[in-house]
Amino acid sequence: MARREDSTPLAEYRAKRDVQRTPEPGGDVSVPARHDGKLRFVVQRHRARRLHYDLRLELAGVFVSWAVPKGPSLDPSVRSLAVRVEDHPLDYGWFEGVIPEGYGKGDVVVWDDGWWEPDPTEERAADPAVALHAGELKFALHGTKLAGRFVIVRTGDDQWLLIKKRDEAAVPGWRAEDHPTSVLSGRTNDDVRAGRPGRWQAPTADELIALEALDANGTWEVAGRSIALTNLDKVLVPGRSGGEPIRKRDIVRYYATVGPWMTPYLAGRPLNLHRFPDGVLKGGFWHKAVPAHAPAWVRRWSNPLASAGTTRHYLVADGVPSLVWAANFAGLELHPWTSTAADPEHPSYALVDIDPGPSTKWEETLVLAKLFRTAVAHLGLVAQPKVTGQRGIQVWIPVRRGTTFTETSDFVEALSRTVGATVPELVSWRWAKQDRSGRARLDYTQNALSKTLVAPYSMRPAPGGPVSVPITWEELDDPQLRPDRWTIADVPRRLAEIGDPFTSLVGIEQDLPAL
Ligand code: MN
Repeated sequence: MARREDSTPLAEYRAKRDVQRTPEPGGDVSVPARHDGKLRFVVQRHRARRLHYDLRLELAGVFVSWAVPKGPSLDPSVRSLAVRVEDHPLDYGWFEGVIPEGYGKGDVVVWDDGWWEPDPTEERAADPAVALHAGELKFALHGTKLAGRFVIVRTGDDQWLLIKKRDEAAVPGWRAEDHPTSVLSGRTNDDVRAGRPGRWQAPTADELIALEALDANGTWEVAGRSIALTNLDKVLVPGRSGGEPIRKRDIVRYYATVGPWMTPYLAGRPLNLHRFPDGVLKGGFWHKAVPAHAPAWVRRWSNPLASAGTTRHYLVADGVPSLVWAANFAGLELHPWTSTAADPEHPSYALVDIDPGPSTKWEETLVLAKLFRTAVAHLGLVAQPKVTGQRGIQVWIPVRRGTTFTETSDFVEALSRTVGATVPELVSWRWAKQDRSGRARLDYTQNALSKTLVAPYSMRPAPGGPVSVPITWEELDDPQLRPDRWTIADVPRRLAEIGDPFTSLVGIEQDLPAL
């Protein structure tokens, strides 16, 4: 297919893609500011009808793109065929996931990224746009996998050759297929296809030290991004029983540290932020829409189901940088959707919410949780509990893809009524709080489109910064267990010591039995 040089750069891209049906960016976000004034490049490994690598170079606000069937090579003796394809929006570069159908159907990982420049060894580097038009661009890449000087030369209509120049970065025999994983998540295309979580990039020790060294306002380089941080020494949360108050810097550090553990439960999901810019004592508010000033690399999702007057553009936090940005935005508490942006009408989990009433004792909440433990074990379901960081306990039950909200809601209602029937003195089925005589509610109504529950490892807005923490079923028998036992001060140590009990839920697809 011939590419028209005079077409509006993105018109061709938009024309090919039905943004209502495909989850990748529709190109409706603001054009990103350049990172340090440098031009970015990205290479995506894309298993469509045929495997290929999409090489994209930022130029004039878009990604100029080629499909490279065998991938780029660091071996100067290799001439890689590259087929020029239409320009892509910059935010497309960070897409990693499954394109369900139509144009580009297949799975995509971000195979490499970094920045590029016209070949610095050239006496007088030509304007890259002019060089491209003339059919030969000499450039240098600064990526994780790809580095050093390259040339890309047009040999026919859309056909080009990509060749590594001989320099220090050249590696004879180097093949892209020997290095298949994502530089963003560590995942392979198979991981992405199976919905497995990423081996997400954690901040380094040096990066965490750099955070402590920042003034109240400054730019933090973390997990591959530069993030502007503000008011880092502002106290947002009082200490617990006379303990140290919590500054914004502590919250930023917490979310950066637990980010790799949280991301499997946030990635690809619209996210609601509970924001407390003036601290938790002043009260907070829900923030759903992504603000216009958010950096361009913060992933957004445009909800095709949004009705007039409701939020359309949601934040999707898919790594440490987005969580750091959200924490700096005083989004202290994170509530993701039960479903993904790619498939908003089908939940990934059935959720049990044991919501204690004013007269419910902790021991009684535990009785209810243990009854759910017995029930899910009896049904042979994989499920895990988590304390909410406030007073309650939730149970998360992963479900097969394609399960409907009606099915999860009906199942959790039936399960909850069965549990509740064994301890009627503890549970109320009245809707209104004042009608419940202080008793607990087993709330199945969160199993609905766009409803949310607090994320695993989200902080709660209370003194000391308690955290909603996944636990093992055995921990229900630990006499030290409390719903707000762990705070942002000790969750990182717990994760380092015992890991994340919710890991056992990831990738599980199970049918909900009839009750
Ligand atoms: Mn492609």
